[in-house]
Amino acid sequence: MRLPSFSLAALTLSLALPALGAEPLAAVERAIVPVASWGGTPADASKARRHTITQITLHHQGEPFKPGTDPQAYLRRLQSWSRTSKGWLDIPYHYVIDLDGRVYEARNIDFAGDTNTEYDPSGHALIEVVGNFEEVEPNQRQLDAVVDLMALLAAKYKVSLDDIRSHRDHSDKTVCPGANLYRYVKEDWFRHKVAQRLAGEQAAKR
Ligand SMILES: [Zn+2]
Repeated sequence: MRLPSFSLAALTLSLALPALGAEPLAAVERAIVPVASWGGTPADASKARRHTITQITLHHQGEPFKPGTDPQAYLRRLQSWSRTSKGWLDIPYHYVIDLDGRVYEARNIDFAGDTNTEYDPSGHALIEVVGNFEEVEPNQRQLDAVVDLMALLAAKYKVSLDDIRSHRDHSDKTVCPGANLYRYVKEDWFRHKVAQRLAGEQAAKR
């Protein structure tokens, strides 16, 4: 007796299930809003400290981000403040995630970040999520965006799951990324989701 022809397709579909609903990481990368698109300007490369990514480190804004705030205007203010008031090369973080889970390019990933605390961010890919997570909960779109971006960076720079942490894991002088976001770091939720995301990406490629 011949097996019905749809059985193989059904089997393939079930094997691909972990990836279902998730965009390929290439699509995540294409959706990142480049600096020029939000009205930012490139940093002075001659003053940059170049580095190689070995870790991924999560931050929060640490201030309330009111719904209705234009994230692009926020990024322009943040870039200007970083350069003028702080004397930094650029926005201290490489990526910023807004309330809708959209990811914006900030500092060039090839350039080491900056910090107000005592750790050396060289080698760290720095992600900032807008809002103050000592006061509010991250929304689902923000959490999903963090997973997508961490998975993209982990795959691209071969960062191990053990090297996905948050600011407070590197510094005693901060509560960043805030208790309500830190919970997902501490309980390995991000690491678990990133592992699933990477497994789904592999399955989709086979
Ligand atoms: Zn931080």
